Amino acid sequence: MTVYSSELAVQTRGNGDTVDVTGSVRHESARSGVDSGIVLVSVVGSTAAMTTIEYESGLVADLGKAWERIAPSGIAYEHDKRWGDGNGHSHVRAAILGPSTSIPLIHGELALGTWQQVVLVDFDTRPRTRRIVVQVLGE
Ligand code: ZN
Repeated sequence: MTVYSSELAVQTRGNGDTVDVTGSVRHESARSGVDSGIVLVSVVGSTAAMTTIEYESGLVADLGKAWERIAPSGIAYEHDKRWGDGNGHSHVRAAILGPSTSIPLIHGELALGTWQQVVLVDFDTRPRTRRIVVQVLGE
């Protein structure tokens, strides 16, 4: 079995900025030399998340609006009382969505739908440079 590890650096604008990283994930999968296995994509940090979505502006906006209903930005958070950094909602959203997603790799192809992209969602309240770890496990 091969375990291939690589990192991506992704610049974001924060505040729910959603970045399509499918091309980079596909590139790393090809570079790994693995034919079939699993591709793990994980962002480092507690205010960002990974998922898949149909990457079009309407749906990206819909997801942003959903987060305002699920974990609103304009309410009090214990985290903000403790640290004063004003990003309690960012942490809660990131914890719910999760830091990683994994995609099957089958004979060199990611098992993704045509309208399904791998995205980084940065919930923090400021621009960040994010580290994404891509691991390809298989043979
Ligand atoms: Zn914080």
